Amino acid sequence: MDPVASIQAAIGTVGKLRELAKKIEEADFRMLLADLSNDLADAKVEAAELKTRLAQALEDNTRLEKQLNTRQSATPQLQQGAYAFEGQEGLFCTACFDAHDKKIRVTPLTGPFRTFGKWSCPVCNANLG
Ligand SMILES: [Zn+2]
Repeated sequence: MDPVASIQAAIGTVGKLRELAKKIEEADFRMLLADLSNDLADAKVEAAELKTRLAQALEDNTRLEKQLNTRQSATPQLQQGAYAFEGQEGLFCTACFDAHDKKIRVTPLTGPFRTFGKWSCPVCNANLG
């Protein structure tokens, strides 16, 4: 059962008990019920917060797993200052892959730009090679 739903059900029970307490007229009993009611309300809020945090943790986990898979399936070789991946044409930006796990194809530098390197990354503008 959903923790939030079960706590909600318990709060409902407290409401019924409160109705009974009206007939009994015992101050201590009613005070105790009020405490219980407050505790349950707090627990409900905390459970909802835990649920949110769990969802966030699961999301992080999925993202990290994906990142790890990318890393394992793609071990790059350094070629002319850029990365080469087995079975994939062209060369890729080292900065984009190392920092963001992104495979960005570099484009050759020509003319006067050639002094800065052999390749340029269209995303981070790094000059390689
Ligand atoms: Zn880049």
